[in-house]
Amino acid sequence: MVKLVFLGPPGAGKGTQAQIIAESYQVPHISTGDILRTNVAEKSPLGIQAKEYMDQGDLVPDELILDMVQKRLENPDAQNGWILDGFPRTVTQAEEFVKKLLSTGTNENDTEGEEAKISNSFNVINLQVPDDILVARLLSRGRQDDNEETIKNRLQVYYQQTQPLIEFYQGRQQLISIDGNHSVDVVTNSLKQAVEKSI
Ligand code: ADP
Repeated sequence: MVKLVFLGPPGAGKGTQAQIIAESYQVPHISTGDILRTNVAEKSPLGIQAKEYMDQGDLVPDELILDMVQKRLENPDAQNGWILDGFPRTVTQAEEFVKKLLSTGTNENDTEGEEAKISNSFNVINLQVPDDILVARLLSRGRQDDNEETIKNRLQVYYQQTQPLIEFYQGRQQLISIDGNHSVDVVTNSLKQAVEKSI
């Protein structure tokens, strides 16, 4: 079963690669950024709350994200695998995510054993791209939150709040690092090889 978390700074190519891998393994591509942007466009209560954070390049509060992801993972299409793109993005999100996975259909008397099993149940792809390349890619993408100032903030937010997850998952033997500084096809090939080895 393919269960992957895509980790990496903004502009690393998570969305592009996650979409390709999701299609080839027939699992849903769950992008928190995409779900949030849909909510913003629809002016839903979540979208209204999230917009101000996103426009600044700040993270949307953990509680809102956790609730949103939990609901999405309850969908029937997510019962046989998933690719998470943009979540978890903070250590709190990662810890709560493990708790959530633990709370669904597990043995309450063996939390440690269960936790190890959950760590083994998904891998985390760390897409690595140098900063100068990230900035150039984001500027050429031109999304609403892709202006120079917001990009600077998003990179800073990434290094402060998301990068600690690399150690978090490395310590749990879940991390697979991939060089993302190549063409889309080359990166896809390295990813597919890594995924094949992990399933
Ligand atoms: P990128 O990776 O290019 O920065 P995303 O589409 O993943 O773009 O995310 C866009 C914005 O959505 C982020 O800057 C942030 O405000 C919000 N966001 C997405 N995922 C999360 C998350 N897991 N936790 C908090 N905020 C999030």
